[in-house]
Amino acid sequence: MKIVVHTDDATQWRDALSEALPNATVVTSDAPEEARQDADYLAVWKAPAYLLKEQTRLKGIINLGAGVDHLLGTPGLPANVPIVKLRDAGMSEPMADYVLYGVLHFYRSMDRYAVQQANAEWQPQRLADKADWPIGVLGLGAIGAHVASALQQAGFPVLGWSRSPKTITGVQCLHGDEGLDKLLGQVQSVVTILPDTPATQSILNAERLAKLPKGASVINPGRGSLIDEQALLEALGDSATSGHLRGALLDVFCEEPLPAKSSLWQHPRVVVTPHMAAPTPVNDAIDQVIAYLHAFEAGEDLPTVNPTQGY
Ligand code: NDP
Repeated sequence: MKIVVHTDDATQWRDALSEALPNATVVTSDAPEEARQDADYLAVWKAPAYLLKEQTRLKGIINLGAGVDHLLGTPGLPANVPIVKLRDAGMSEPMADYVLYGVLHFYRSMDRYAVQQANAEWQPQRLADKADWPIGVLGLGAIGAHVASALQQAGFPVLGWSRSPKTITGVQCLHGDEGLDKLLGQVQSVVTILPDTPATQSILNAERLAKLPKGASVINPGRGSLIDEQALLEALGDSATSGHLRGALLDVFCEEPLPAKSSLWQHPRVVVTPHMAAPTPVNDAIDQVIAYLHAFEAGEDLPTVNPTQGY
């Protein structure tokens, strides 16, 4: 079995795969062309087009992350080769931490205290009851469902939204356009953990942002394309005028790295992080990758990515 690996931690992945599969040939994508060709499997994150184009006998592609938007958009992606992606694989917990941090940032008024500190102003803010601070989670997949549960366990009422109906203990699960409107109409923070697909792009547009209660905040560790960035800026107002929304914590952007000229960098009520919410931990994810390879080889059914749906 030949596996070609392409990711930031390619050497670590190559070594871990070689150790677990001593009979396999595992090479990184910077190996000479002859060594990269005729792979049975690619294990990749942000694969370059040449790597996909030069393969002739692939049996499967393993996406070393949860989002497949980059892979599906790469020219040369062979049709009809099954793709699997990482499901949780150690990402849910750091994502839940990131989102909880964001929720607490607004719930505990850390945004307001930062402004007060700059003015040497000593003024405790009113602490709301958690029961009056509902959070909405868009996307209840491998990661989103864990985040919704973690927020619920932290004491917040949680409304979740997904394409198909779901049941998650303690979470009010909604779906469909009506469900989205219902969620947006009542949450203090909306968290977007959806994949980037044709159906989710700009899902938080000006009209939907306006449906959030005044003073609500947005936390986006999903994908930049989920939010119309211009509409978000308008809803936030500027340094002189407060807008409909209170603030945003953003980890992902339409263009990454976020260009230096983006107004989001300078906005006083936006916190920018550089796509770091939930990196793929090799030590946690390796078992899932090995299990995928064994299942491919055994011809077992796998939860493959649906390229039409885009996730
Ligand atoms: P999954 O594929 O497991 O789940 C996706 C969820 O989104 C499902 O609940 C799905 O609904 C829902 N969904 C998809 N399309 C729609 C739609 N049109 N309308 C409503 N709901 C929809 O993904 P993960 O939970 O593993 O990851 C989610 C995303 O998080 C990734 O795609 C990636 O973009 C992002 N991510 C970001 C990271 C970071 O570091 N910033 C790290 C990891 C992931 P249903 O359940 O009905 O299918």
